[in-house]
Amino acid sequence: MNSIEFTNRQQQIIELVKKHQPITSKHIADKLNMTRAALRPDLTVLAMAGFLEARPKVGYLYTGRSVNNMISDFIRNIKVGDIKSSPVVVSEDTMVYDAIVTLFLEDVGTIYIHNGGILTGVVSRKDFLKIALGNTDIHKVPIGIIMTRMPNIACVKDEDSAYDVAGKIILHEIDSVPVVESVCLENGKTGYKITGKVSKTNITRLLYDLCDDELGGL
Ligand code: ADP
Repeated sequence: MNSIEFTNRQQQIIELVKKHQPITSKHIADKLNMTRAALRPDLTVLAMAGFLEARPKVGYLYTGRSVNNMISDFIRNIKVGDIKSSPVVVSEDTMVYDAIVTLFLEDVGTIYIHNGGILTGVVSRKDFLKIALGNTDIHKVPIGIIMTRMPNIACVKDEDSAYDVAGKIILHEIDSVPVVESVCLENGKTGYKITGKVSKTNITRLLYDLCDDELGGL
């Protein structure tokens, strides 16, 4: 990531290559009134960072990659498996009251629901508020009654990218997605085992950690 902060000289080199490509290091050095040896470190950095391509016996070419391309590639290369955290999961027959207690004790905003280890639903703060506003006895209502059910749950897998997760969170206007693994059920259908969660907090932490690496912390 540091490589995308160009020095003035690196910017000049990129502009020269864009304009005169293919151009040899000797020609670039001549145009900048430098020796080839003095130019070499900058050319190496730009080639390693993917902005220039060095073609033997031809010269340097501009790859057309922008800083935005590189950031986008970087984010797409971060996988759900690298950023997921532990999910809070309860079974479908848990009473709403007990699930609310779990929500507070575990300090989360969303609880995932399973039946026999397989994801069947999701319950969020607003779902709890909705039922708590009515006259229902939340000690007697199982969470399975109020949850958002499969197959209407947006899920991701370990191999999906951080970009895919952010897209699902925005598209469905939700706070988190369960991370799942497909399993074959006894009835031959596909079920999903819950292996983690990615929430808005995980995405925010990812952005923070990227800047933290760059700036050395606050
Ligand atoms: P909050 O209730 O704090 O606004 P969300 O925005 O995550 O939390 O949830 C809004 C609604 O979307 C709730 O009804 C919840 O059950 C549902 N929901 C939450 N996560 C998911 C998900 N991954 N897939 C589908 N629906 C979800």
